[in-house]
Amino acid sequence: MRRPQLDIQLKTPEQIVKMRAAGLVVAEALRRMREAVAPGVSTADLDAIAESTIRDAGAVPSFKGYHGFPASICSSVNEQVVHAIPASGQLLRDGDLISIDCGAVLDGWHGDSAITVGVGDVDPALLKMAAVAEDAMWAGIAAAARGAANGRGRLTDISSAVEKAVRRGGRYGIVDGYGGHGIGTEMHQDPHVLNHGRPGKGPRLVAGMALAIEPMITMGSPRTAELSDGWTVVTRDGSMAAHVEHTMALLPDGVWVLTAEDGGRARLGDLVTARQPADSPTA
Ligand code: MG
Ligand code: MG
Repeated sequence: MRRPQLDIQLKTPEQIVKMRAAGLVVAEALRRMREAVAPGVSTADLDAIAESTIRDAGAVPSFKGYHGFPASICSSVNEQVVHAIPASGQLLRDGDLISIDCGAVLDGWHGDSAITVGVGDVDPALLKMAAVAEDAMWAGIAAAARGAANGRGRLTDISSAVEKAVRRGGRYGIVDGYGGHGIGTEMHQDPHVLNHGRPGKGPRLVAGMALAIEPMITMGSPRTAELSDGWTVVTRDGSMAAHVEHTMALLPDGVWVLTAEDGGRARLGDLVTARQPADSPTA
């Protein structure tokens, strides 16, 4: 049986520069929300920070109105995995673990990124889970960079690297049914990027690809359920979950992590492109 043809949008360096500008808007919104996270702060307060940061930068919150989603962020607390809706009545409590997912579109190009942050005094085991999710995301990005550089990379090299990093980190559930995605003139494009699987399959990793890499892991089972609001995804077993995400682009000489303020340099070193074209938020 023939596989359905994937529609992968390859970007020019100039278009990637535009995506960088969008990515930096998302990075700033997430930085400001990270600073604001504290017991007593509501998830709607965080949403307001995101929306004002994005609009002040001349961008538009891409989540707002997306298939009817009512807010600029997804704020997924504790056993909520992804897609939870912020609410003024939902106050963060000491010991919570929150995933904040945020997207912006600027000049027609998208950025999409998520962080997982502890609230106040958090169980170190939860912070470790969040760190493992982050390590897995960077491992996936590094695998993409290496695969593009040596010309032999395939999409599921990313999936395999994410899974291996999670397994190295401990006994976590890798959430099934959700994953990363292509991104560009729409927030969600082909290809879907699984967070687990064997390497060496799928489309070749080539310069011009832009992907959002987003591991989601749990302290327990990988199984999830969607709440009756039609959005919020929770773990079925009630275990705590973590979710992190960056948007990255492959360039001829390396990767550029568009939603990381340093482009990924601190975590990836020389895998990051040496020539970040016009790397400034005003470019
Ligand atoms: Mg996202
Ligand atoms: Mg995403």
